[in-house]
Amino acid sequence: MPPRLLIATGNPHKVEEFRALLGDLPFELVRLDQVGIHEQIAETGTTFAENARLKAEGYCRQSGLLTLADDSGLEIAALNGAPGVYSARYGGVSGRAQLDLVLQHMHDVPWPQRQARFVCVIAIAEPQGALHLVEGTLDGMIAHAPQGEFGFGYDPIFYLPERGLTVAQLPPDEKNRISHRARAAKQARAILLAIAQRAAS
Ligand code: IMP
Repeated sequence: MPPRLLIATGNPHKVEEFRALLGDLPFELVRLDQVGIHEQIAETGTTFAENARLKAEGYCRQSGLLTLADDSGLEIAALNGAPGVYSARYGGVSGRAQLDLVLQHMHDVPWPQRQARFVCVIAIAEPQGALHLVEGTLDGMIAHAPQGEFGFGYDPIFYLPERGLTVAQLPPDEKNRISHRARAAKQARAILLAIAQRAAS
């Protein structure tokens, strides 16, 4: 049996993306609910790295398993980096209302100043105590209106100038080739492979 790797996120979209990005590694990927964890660890940090670490170490302690957690979000230059680490709870609303709120805050911002980036920090916590942190980013612009049905979160308003599409217009396999999460996962893959080799030797 391959060793288990806990994918410590309650977001089913992220679980799917991590399965596509890391599912071929010599680990059995398990979800929080599969190991009986139903309570979320509070994201009390002020940086993506702090929150990713809190989650990875906390769920690693609770499960006793090698644990991967990510903290991610959208940084908009014209809003001084907001929503940033508060992306999931920006404005106290979710779904379409959250996109509308961002678009409302960006209403007067002309196209050249609509730069934004997605950030993903992945933390990997080993039960023996080691912690690994890696980061991936994706640059883009805030669109004037939502477009596309794929993905989740802010994908419909995150426009990729070089593609002429929003991230929500990219099929999942294309998003998984270029996204902030894919870029962080590429670095996480090397760390996980080294851990797997160590475990096997
Ligand atoms: P957390 O990492 O669970 O704290 O939440 C991250 C939040 O940032 C999500 O709820 C989304 O609103 C946003 N976010 C993170 N990654 C993505 C992505 O790949 N696409 C769109 N929105 C994202």
